Amino acid sequence: MTDRLQKLLDNRDWLLADGATGTNLFNMGLASGDAPELWNRDKPEKILVLYDAFLKAGVDIFLTNSFGCNRSRLNLHGAAEICFELAERSASLAREAVDKRTSQAIIAGSMGPTGEIMEPLGTLTFTRAVEYFHEQAEGLKSGGADVLWIETISDKNEFLAAQEACNLANMPWCGTMSFDTVGYTMMGFTPKNLVELVSDLQIKPTGFGANCGAGASDMVLTILAISEHKPEIPIIAKGNAGIPCIKEGSIHYSGSPEIMANYAELARSAGARIIGGCCGTTPVHLERMKDRLEKKTNGSKPTHDEVRELLGEPSFQPGEKKRVKRISRRRK
Ligand SMILES: [Zn+2]
Repeated sequence: MTDRLQKLLDNRDWLLADGATGTNLFNMGLASGDAPELWNRDKPEKILVLYDAFLKAGVDIFLTNSFGCNRSRLNLHGAAEICFELAERSASLAREAVDKRTSQAIIAGSMGPTGEIMEPLGTLTFTRAVEYFHEQAEGLKSGGADVLWIETISDKNEFLAAQEACNLANMPWCGTMSFDTVGYTMMGFTPKNLVELVSDLQIKPTGFGANCGAGASDMVLTILAISEHKPEIPIIAKGNAGIPCIKEGSIHYSGSPEIMANYAELARSAGARIIGGCCGTTPVHLERMKDRLEKKTNGSKPTHDEVRELLGEPSFQPGEKKRVKRISRRRK
């Protein structure tokens, strides 16, 4: 299996990844609570529109509509039996979109969490988690994904299960975690823990880093925390377009295209080589991000004051013993 993403990274300093899938599909009429993956079968024309909008914005990498394409999640929608087909279709539609534009963009097969809690806190065994992810990985591979893209993971064991599935499918892979809880993942994992985890793996990811979380300023601080440990593997930053808020009954994100352009520039200066958006990031945001990355040269690492000034107040201060605070807050 040739790693097209690795080849691109060998020739370019930075790459632009895509924006949101879920929030953009909501804007296209997906109802809250519905599985976006079912649209691969039921409304493929809309998925093609979303993919094409990212390609038109000039992304180098875009993710397939397969975040929740695993047996566990789709079981909630009575679609467990077709998870392979839906994953396959998400990638074959991506291939169709790429071919139509004669684009060279990399198709990354998105693999989000199973939605279950793993042992010992929950009941999902490691073996079962690998099976879920492996089925999804094979579907994405069969549909024509170039690379598999594990994302929004909080639990170390779930990350390990997903990467094992990528290896079983004999596919190159990337992996990002969501540091959405004052600089930690929900399960208490730190950026440093993630660097150590991927550095120790036998089959290393093509890229790794962070996605989603709590806004652009938190994301840049997370990337600084990762790059501090000087990992050899390229770092990925896919931050949300600010913070979600409810306006007239629907979800809006606070991050303007200008803020996201600032974010892209700072994320790159902080050490990220693959830069994109997550929830709330539209093709309009991406165009501005690309424009900024092209016009500005890579600067020195941003200070925390610069991050605050250009992106707004982060939800945490690096170096603070937030876990102690979290525990004491929970006890109240
Ligand atoms: Zn997100």
